[in-house]
Amino acid sequence: MSSNLFKTWGRSFAVRLTLGYAMIFTLSAVVLFGLLYVLLASALERKDREVIEARLKECAAVYANGGLPALRNLVERNSTDTDKSKSFFVRVTGNLGSVLFVNVPNEWLQVAAAPTHMQSDTSQPDWLRIPKDDERDLTVATARLTDGSILQVGRSTNSRETVLQPFRRNFLLVMTPTLLLAVLGGAYFAHRATQPVREVVATARTISDTGNFSARVTANASQAELQELATEFNRVLDKNQSLIQGMRDALDNVAHDLRTPLTRLRGTAEAAVQTTPDPIAREALADCVEESDRVLTMLKALMDISEAEAGMMKLHRELTSIPALLKEVIDLYELISEEKHITITTDFAEDCKASVDPTRLRQAFANLLDNALKYTPDGGRVHLSCTSDSNTVTVRMRDTGMGIPAAEQSRIWERLYRGDKSRTQRGLGLGLSLVKAIVEAHRGSVTVTSEAGHGAEFVITVPQIPLGA
Ligand code: ADP
Repeated sequence: MSSNLFKTWGRSFAVRLTLGYAMIFTLSAVVLFGLLYVLLASALERKDREVIEARLKECAAVYANGGLPALRNLVERNSTDTDKSKSFFVRVTGNLGSVLFVNVPNEWLQVAAAPTHMQSDTSQPDWLRIPKDDERDLTVATARLTDGSILQVGRSTNSRETVLQPFRRNFLLVMTPTLLLAVLGGAYFAHRATQPVREVVATARTISDTGNFSARVTANASQAELQELATEFNRVLDKNQSLIQGMRDALDNVAHDLRTPLTRLRGTAEAAVQTTPDPIAREALADCVEESDRVLTMLKALMDISEAEAGMMKLHRELTSIPALLKEVIDLYELISEEKHITITTDFAEDCKASVDPTRLRQAFANLLDNALKYTPDGGRVHLSCTSDSNTVTVRMRDTGMGIPAAEQSRIWERLYRGDKSRTQRGLGLGLSLVKAIVEAHRGSVTVTSEAGHGAEFVITVPQIPLGA
């Protein structure tokens, strides 16, 4: 279960977008941090070298003018004048490698052993860096004097560690909120970026769940590409809807046009049945009459549905006792229920009256009971109840049959739709469309609750007195 959740998460575009954004953001922060550190450290080092190089040049100039005594003078004067901690290490080494002059501040004793020779032969000084402690380094510049001797000037400098340590110490402190900001920011942008995609998915789901082809994506004008996706998606839906409407209209027209010739055909066959002496021909003609009846019922149902959906169904309303209507329907199906050993029980409240077209509503109840008996196996039960409140009458019909899978529940109201497992039973797939059309023509509603294998309950609610009546 949890691994499935992780798999779904891993495949989620929004989650990947968030993680990608957080990674790039964090990586940029680390690079920026590192770059800042390198720049700062090299700026400090450059500053240190500038000071030492200036001192080196000064010493070299004094040596060139006044020789060793003048240099000694300068060094001694400086070490008394200035702060001891800032005093310079100065060493002159002769051609043969002997030390001619050295001034070593206390902290510099360890450097006394530093190499005295030049490593390169350029006019630029050689640089040597000797770590002293965690915070300080000793930096020595070595240059060749005009007479070939080696002059070394050094100074205690800030170690890179001085810069590095607070950086390192603060790194985690800074990175934790940075990372949090990156994830939150990423999640926000990913959520916004995928919003139109989610809307497209939600619209597609609404259409497939409810069969409502008029659902559309509300496009967000601020995201041009995604708005284009939404517009194109809506355009496809428009096309689909007009195609479906076209098919319905064609079906209605065909139903309308077929009715008259078929009725005539049926009449002719029926008349012929009476007069034909040949028993085989009579049987064939009787079959024709039966099949014509079947097709005519289907055509009538199709026309009734389209009439009701177009708001053109004529209702002959009269104040009717709904339990009385239900009892009539139960009587009609008594034989079938007895054949299948299905027990029909009722629970009708007194005074369930409504202003309805009794013929139409009886037809709707009959369709529901017909289905309940058809889809309930032998020995099952069907329970009918009727209740009323101040405005409405509610009829419930519950069976213990095969039930309707959740995925089919929104589709059973469509014309000519038949459930997968219902194909073995007789039927045209028009019964429930007609129920819905009749109930809605009465300004009522019909719903179903069911679980596959555990029966179904249909609930019809009609207003006692329709609004505007
Ligand atoms: P049909 O002619 O197939 O009965 P309907 O429009 O009356 O057509 O019903 C549509 C579908 O709804 C059926 O094919 C069946 O799958 C399902 N259905 C309707 N009523 C029931 C019920 N009481 N129990 C189980 N399934 C039902």
